[in-house]
Amino acid sequence: MITRRDFLVATSASLVGAAMESAASAATPRPWYATMRRCGQLNLNERDPLTLDVASWIDYWASLKLDALLLNGGGIVAFYPTTVPYHHRSEFLGSRDLFGELAEATKSHNIRVVARMDCNYAYEDALKAHPEWFERNENGSPRPHTESTWLYKTCMFSTYFTDQMSAIYREIGERYPVDGFFTNGWPSTGDLVVCHCENCRRVYREQIGGTPPNQVDATSALYRKYYDVYMDRVLDVWRRWQQVVTEKRADSVYVGNLGGGIRTVKNVKRLGEAARWFNADHQGRSGDTPIWDCAQQGRVAQSVMEGRAITNVTGAYSNSRPTWRHVSKAPAETTMWLAQTAASGMVPWFHWLGGAPEDTRWKAVGRDFFTWLAAHEPHFRNRRSIADVAVLYPQRTIAFYRSGPGPGTWRGAERAQTTDYLQGVYYALCEGRIFFDFVHEDDLQAERLRRYRVLLIPNAAFLSDDHCGRIREYVAAGGSVLATFETSRYTEWGDARSDFALADVFGVSATGELVGPTGNSYMRIEARHPVLAGFDGTALLPGPEQRVPIRATGAASTSLPLTVVPYYPAFPPEMVFPRTPKTDQPAAILRETGRSRVAYFAGDVDRTFWRSGSPDLALLIQNTVKWLRGAQRAPATLDGEGVVEAFAWETGPGYALHILNYTNPNMTRGFIRKFYAIGPQKAQLEVASERRIASVRALRSGRSVPFTQNGTMVSFEVPSVTDYEVVALT
Ligand SMILES: [Zn+2]
Repeated sequence: MITRRDFLVATSASLVGAAMESAASAATPRPWYATMRRCGQLNLNERDPLTLDVASWIDYWASLKLDALLLNGGGIVAFYPTTVPYHHRSEFLGSRDLFGELAEATKSHNIRVVARMDCNYAYEDALKAHPEWFERNENGSPRPHTESTWLYKTCMFSTYFTDQMSAIYREIGERYPVDGFFTNGWPSTGDLVVCHCENCRRVYREQIGGTPPNQVDATSALYRKYYDVYMDRVLDVWRRWQQVVTEKRADSVYVGNLGGGIRTVKNVKRLGEAARWFNADHQGRSGDTPIWDCAQQGRVAQSVMEGRAITNVTGAYSNSRPTWRHVSKAPAETTMWLAQTAASGMVPWFHWLGGAPEDTRWKAVGRDFFTWLAAHEPHFRNRRSIADVAVLYPQRTIAFYRSGPGPGTWRGAERAQTTDYLQGVYYALCEGRIFFDFVHEDDLQAERLRRYRVLLIPNAAFLSDDHCGRIREYVAAGGSVLATFETSRYTEWGDARSDFALADVFGVSATGELVGPTGNSYMRIEARHPVLAGFDGTALLPGPEQRVPIRATGAASTSLPLTVVPYYPAFPPEMVFPRTPKTDQPAAILRETGRSRVAYFAGDVDRTFWRSGSPDLALLIQNTVKWLRGAQRAPATLDGEGVVEAFAWETGPGYALHILNYTNPNMTRGFIRKFYAIGPQKAQLEVASERRIASVRALRSGRSVPFTQNGTMVSFEVPSVTDYEVVALT
C-alpha cells in the first residue's frame, strides 16, 4: 500500500524535478509524459475479466511509485463494453468494465493511465463486413496470425487505421480518464510489409509505378519509392492519431511502438520527428546478443529524441528464445536491463503479461529497482550528455547495405552482419572506457557536431552527398574523424560511386574492387605512431577480413604507419608463409590538418574485431580515438578493472556518472544469473567553470565518496561496483 506520506514525498520530489527541468527549457510548460520517470504495464489476456483482482494489482503498481500505468483498452479485444461495431468485446467480460475499474483505481493512486491498444489484428466478423480493412497475399487471401489463426492482419493503408482505430480512441477518451494511448506492435522500426489488398494495389499503381519487392532491396527503384511512401503513411497515421487523442484533452499523447536497438530499417530520425514520446519495445535479449543491447537502444533513441521522452520496456517474463510468457526472467538480467535503461537516460517501463500469475518472483525485482529510482529521482533528470566522442549511427547502411562485392539481391542472413561494424566500435569503446554518444546520420548539422571533438564512422557505406558535405564541414572546422572500410563509397540508396565521396577528407582514392573476405592477412607496422602504442614485440597486427584497395593522395602531413600483407594459406602448416611479405599498400591513413585529425582504415577492422574478438584490433581502435582527440582533455574518464559501459550526464542537481558492470560470463550470452563485483574505479569528471562540488555520493551502494576538485576537474574513486552504480555530484 502507498501511504499518504509516501505519496506526498513522491509528489514533492517530482515537482522539484519538474521545476528544474522547466527552468532549463526556457519556462515552456512540459507535458506530463516529458517528466515521468517510471512506467508499468499489466498486459491483460481475454480471460482475465473472470478473475482479475483490481485492488491488489493496483497496490502492486503503486508500490513501484509509478508515474504511468499501461492498461489494455482495446483493438483486438475490448476490455470494456464497447459500442463500436466489430470491436470485439472480451468473451469473458460479462457485466464487467474491467478497463474502467482499472483506470479508476489507477487514477485514485494519482498514477496516469495510458490505454494500451492493438491495431494489428481483428476477427473474422470484421473481415466479412469490411474486407477492405485487411492485408492480402498475392492470391487475395487474408493473412491469419501464425499462432492465433482466428485473427487476421489489418492493413495500415486501409480505413481500419484512419477510421476504426480513431473511433475506438474517441470512445475510450470520452468514457475514461485516460492520459494517453499506445499501440502495441505498430509501427515498429523493422522491415516494411508488402500487402496486396485493393488499397495497396492502388498505392503501388498510382504512387510507385509497380509492386515493390517483398524483401529489403535498396537496389530496386520500386523499393526506394515504396520506402518513402510507406514512411509518409506511417507519419500521417501517427500525426492523425495524435490529433484524435488530443481532441478532448490537450495534454494527451499517442505513443507508437518503436525499438529494434541498432537493427532498424525504418528511418528513426523521421519517426522521432513525429513522436512526442518514443517507446522502445526492446524487452530483453536472446541467444548471443551482448548484454549492452539495451544501452545501445538508449543511444539510438537519444540520437533522435535529444532529451525528449523515451521509455524502454523491460519484459519481466522470460523473453528468451524460446520464450516463456508466464515465468520470470532471471532477476539479475532484469535488473541489468532496467539499469541500462536508466543509465542511458531512458525511462523504465516494467511489463508483465496476464492477470493471474503463478510465478510472482518478478514482482520484487521491479519493486526494488523502482523504489530505489524513486528515492533518487532528481539525479535521473538529465540535461545533457558530457561525452566529447560521437559515433555516427549509420541507419541506411544497417538497413540496406549488402556486404561483399558484385550484384545480387538482399540475402536475409546478411542483415545481422550490417551491424557488425558498429558492434566492433561499440565493444572497443566500452572496453576502452571511452564516453560517447550516437549521432544519427540525418542529424550531422554543425550545431550538433560542434559538441564533439571526435566523430567515429563505422563503415557508413551508404551516405548522401549532403551527409558527406556535413562531415567535410565538421573536419574543416577542426573536428577529428575515424572512418572505416567502405564509408561513403555509395549513395544513400547504395548506388556505387566511382570513388569515396569523402576521398578528399580521407586523403585516399579507391583503386579497385573489394578484397576478401579472407582470414590470415596482416597489417605490417612500418613506423612508430601513437595509434600503435602497446604493440612492442610484434611487426605484424591481425589484418581485416575485407578491405578496399587504396592509394594515398594526401600531402606530406599524411602518415602511413601500417601496410597490407595480403592473404596467404593458413593450412596446411607447410604452406603457411607469406607470398608477398611486404607491400606499399596502405592499411591506414592518418592525417593532421590544423586541429583536425583524420584516421581512415581501408579494412573492416571494426567488423573483424567483433567477429574475431582480437584484443589487438580493439587496442588499435582505442589508440586511434585517443590520438584523434589530440591534446584536448577528455571531459570524463574512468579507470579500473572490468568491462563496463559508462555514461556521464549533467543533471538537474549537478552531475551523474553511471557505471554498468558487464564483467560477467553471461556478457555475450544470456541470461546473467549473478553479478561479479569489480574493484576500485577511479573517475574524473569535468564540471562547469563556476561550479563548486559539495558532495559526491554513490547512490546504489548508498555511501559518500571522498573527492577532490582541481579547477573544473573533480576526481574520486568508487570502491567497488556490483551491478550498477550512479555517482551523483552536487
Ligand atoms: Zn494493404
